[in-house]
Amino acid sequence: MEVIRIVVTGLLVLLFQQGLIHVALLWAAVAFGLYPLVKTGLSDLLHERKIGTEIFVTIATLVAVFGGETVAGAVLMVIILIAEFIAELNTDRARASIKALIGSAPQVALVRSATGERQVPIAALRPGDVVLVREGEKVPVDGHVVHGSGSVDEAVITGESLPKSKQVGAPVFAGTLLAAGALDIRTEGVGQDTTFARIIALVEQAESEQAPIQKLADRVAAWLIPVVLVFLVGVFLVTGDVRTVVTLMIFTSPAELGLATPLVMIAAIARAARAGILIKGGIHLEALAKVDVVVFDKTGTLTANQPRVVEVRVASEATDEAELLQWAAAADRRSAHPLAKAVVDAARDHDLQVREPEAYEQIQGRGVKAKVDGREVLVGNAALLTEHGVGLDTVAERDGRTRLHVAVDGRWMGVIFIADTLRPGAAEALAELKRTGVQRLVMLTGDHRATAQAVAQAAGIDEVHADLLPQDKVKAIADLMAQGHRVAMVGDGVNDAPALVRADVGIAMGGGGTQAALEAADIALMQDELGKIAVARAIARRAYRTIQENLFVGVGVVHVLGIVAALMGWIGPIEAAIIHLGPDVLVFFNSVKLLRVRIQGA
Ligand code: ADP
Ligand code: MG
Repeated sequence: MEVIRIVVTGLLVLLFQQGLIHVALLWAAVAFGLYPLVKTGLSDLLHERKIGTEIFVTIATLVAVFGGETVAGAVLMVIILIAEFIAELNTDRARASIKALIGSAPQVALVRSATGERQVPIAALRPGDVVLVREGEKVPVDGHVVHGSGSVDEAVITGESLPKSKQVGAPVFAGTLLAAGALDIRTEGVGQDTTFARIIALVEQAESEQAPIQKLADRVAAWLIPVVLVFLVGVFLVTGDVRTVVTLMIFTSPAELGLATPLVMIAAIARAARAGILIKGGIHLEALAKVDVVVFDKTGTLTANQPRVVEVRVASEATDEAELLQWAAAADRRSAHPLAKAVVDAARDHDLQVREPEAYEQIQGRGVKAKVDGREVLVGNAALLTEHGVGLDTVAERDGRTRLHVAVDGRWMGVIFIADTLRPGAAEALAELKRTGVQRLVMLTGDHRATAQAVAQAAGIDEVHADLLPQDKVKAIADLMAQGHRVAMVGDGVNDAPALVRADVGIAMGGGGTQAALEAADIALMQDELGKIAVARAIARRAYRTIQENLFVGVGVVHVLGIVAALMGWIGPIEAAIIHLGPDVLVFFNSVKLLRVRIQGA
């Protein structure tokens, strides 16, 4: 329809210039061409109380037509239609490229059943069903490998293009591609319950959020228009020349203001998605570009999320190591905390039976409180025990190991030591952040100060706050912001979620992190690599700079030159409209350039 409109109106202008048709037909063509502009213009005016480009162009065209410059008006309108069409096409293409990057998940699965194999729609799958995936097929569900092996391309989830080898017991994700081998997968999540579906939802949500700079552009446009109108009326009163006024209108229309940012945002979000970084909206790009303090959670964020129990020490003769571990494992069995997993794994490794707790409660930033065999078990930091009136001795710190104290029925039973290594490349990643202009790196943790300091030193953190509850983390962030800093928070746990929301930018570890953190964050790293933060920041800064370039070159320079040229009488409306296409094209190329930009580490 847009193309037809452009071709028909353009053709009629040509025919009229050749003297082949009556001027009435040209008027009809103008009306036909103006229709969509008037429609969006009026709807913006009524619903958003904003005078947009469309109204501007409409007025310019009408002034030209009624001022006796019918051809100029019609040409102007056709060119604007073309410009809008290009802009729309580009936005659509950028969107499509995001979707294409993400791909799609299969809608049917091959299920193993008593009678053999059957193809079923994924909606009919139940958790526990075993689905078969053959070489070259996409995985239809989230689950674990129960049979076979293969290598899986997980780029859609993690951005990592090297295929990953999968053996029995390995997790696999819907939407990923089995590059080689054959896998039997036990279904755990289907459809909307898959990581893949969540990623799609995030990206769709990303498009609907506006960046502050965009709002600024809208505000400037709203303010500029009345000024411009007064200016134009003034020019008309002085010169009495319709042509000059129409020419000026073309250069004073704030068209590129609207175009200069959204395209950049979409391109940047797509570029980041390709690097395994999900940005939930353009607004966060701007915030990330301006960040000067980055705050990290410790456990699961700076550390590798593979903690191991390295020592168990009993506090009295009343118990032994195995029993202590058994109590702790039973209490921690229902917890999703990375430390809990280490405790349960250690118990299993020692062939200890892990009982099911009758009641269980995770106390954020402290530990767990559970009822096991009718007895109250506490597992967590010293503060947890103290707050429950349990007395305990101080335990000497060594090597930055995390201590989990265990109490049963109000009696301190002993300590479990957990070694949690720094994520590979953490120190380099943090150093890189500093190179991109981050001034201060801060750690906020619920763990003990001595442990926290050991990790902080190894990672290159400037400042440590330990023994924090979730609300303390929020307060620490709020304090930094009150000092005038722009703060990014990086976290993985349920206990980080409030802080992720409070910070200017929340960044979640998307792989090993919790769903709560993922939802609270503005940016998710699909591979838990700290290096991706610097990559995200590089993309954000680049995007921000591109927007500034667009506004400056596209809007500033071209328009100022155009206005001067029009006032001097060097150019008429048609030349103006043609020149006006220039910044549109410039802005476009400048923006999509971002899609292909190479970024170190991405
Ligand atoms: P971080 O802020 O570094 O991610 P958390 O706030 O998650 O750490 O945990 C802080 C402390 O609380 C841990 O060091 C541990 O002592 C204790 N803790 C939290 N959850 C558990 C759990 N499920 N089992 C045992 N201890 C826990
Ligand atoms: Mg954590």
